[in-house]
Amino acid sequence: DLFYRQLPKVELHAHLNGSVSFSTIEKLVARKPHLNIEHGMTAIRSGQRRTLDEADIPIICQRKRRRGQRAGCFVRTRRRCFQVFKVIHQLVDTEEDILMVAKDVIREFAADGVKYLELRSTPRKEKTTGMTKRRYVETVIEAIRQCKNEGVDIEVRFLVAVDRRNGAEVAMETVKLAEDFMLSTGGLVVGLDLSGDPTVGHGRDFLPALQKAKNCGLKLSLHLSEVPSQADESELLLNIPPDRIGHGTFLHPEVGGSQSLVDKVRKHNTPLELCLTSNVKGQTVSSYSQHHFLYWYQMGHPSVICTDDKGVFCTDLSQEYQLAASTFNLSQEDMWTLSHKAIDCTFAPDLQQQLHQKWLELQPTLF
Ligand code: 5GP
Repeated sequence: DLFYRQLPKVELHAHLNGSVSFSTIEKLVARKPHLNIEHGMTAIRSGQRRTLDEADIPIICQRKRRRGQRAGCFVRTRRRCFQVFKVIHQLVDTEEDILMVAKDVIREFAADGVKYLELRSTPRKEKTTGMTKRRYVETVIEAIRQCKNEGVDIEVRFLVAVDRRNGAEVAMETVKLAEDFMLSTGGLVVGLDLSGDPTVGHGRDFLPALQKAKNCGLKLSLHLSEVPSQADESELLLNIPPDRIGHGTFLHPEVGGSQSLVDKVRKHNTPLELCLTSNVKGQTVSSYSQHHFLYWYQMGHPSVICTDDKGVFCTDLSQEYQLAASTFNLSQEDMWTLSHKAIDCTFAPDLQQQLHQKWLELQPTLF
């Protein structure tokens, strides 16, 4: 729908390697024929079961395009989604790859009408190619700068991600790296993300690193209560408190969370980053109409619609806005207000006034 494509949008929850489009994947596959990663076929069929530990499975796959269907959908369940990242990481293991992937992703968000993007990614070291974590971050920053110089109409900021799978010590190192880059990039690095498989590790282990990040001025966006068993962890992490919450699917009492969790979120007015398709395809939410977006939106709580992993889940931000509107019967004006309010939830206060101005300039053409 043209309205949602033209609507100026803010994207606050986008994992770099989950956002890689199918056309970029094709370029990567062509660069690395030795990996023998297949596509053009469905390697994860619905009903097929795989465990998280099965590594190195060639699962980049391409569902045959049927009429009216988008190409490149390759995820059915949350568990498989973490497998998909392993394969994408195999394909994205040099500085050249990171540069191409980050530039493609930024251009794609811009083409979808996103005017402000916060990308997040986990710095990775690759022994085989000599890529270091520091070079990884530098390369993403370089991609942001190149897009800016090429006149791509989007402001981009970066969140350094901590993968919980890698434990507390790595988390602390990542915070130091993020702090260095926050200082050396003149504010392009704005925060820290806690993500990775929510069933691995416990949030308490990351408290010192998160606290340190907060103290040095990094904003915190934490994946919280993404799966049902995380209420204790969320209680702890909400005390920090974070500056934004990713998903928060199981915070409210009706789904096994608690009123105390909801009260904490409300007390600090902590915005939620809500990713409808990701949660439905990842099967933490049973259907679009059951999505917790409605719970928080009806409460008037700051709720920002995001994509999470637009490549992996085969979506884009326009589509997510449109899905929210059609599922919850919201008007175009409601959706404009939602996208406008998202500006106040960004981690770039220096840009907010400029973005508000941009929204006002674009509004009259929309209704
Ligand atoms: P990257 O950090 O490599 O750019 O993006 C992929 C990584 O983001 C995954 O390995 C995982 O750590 C994280 N990630 C992507 N999507 C999700 C999600 O839906 N939930 C969680 N908890 N982590 C995610």
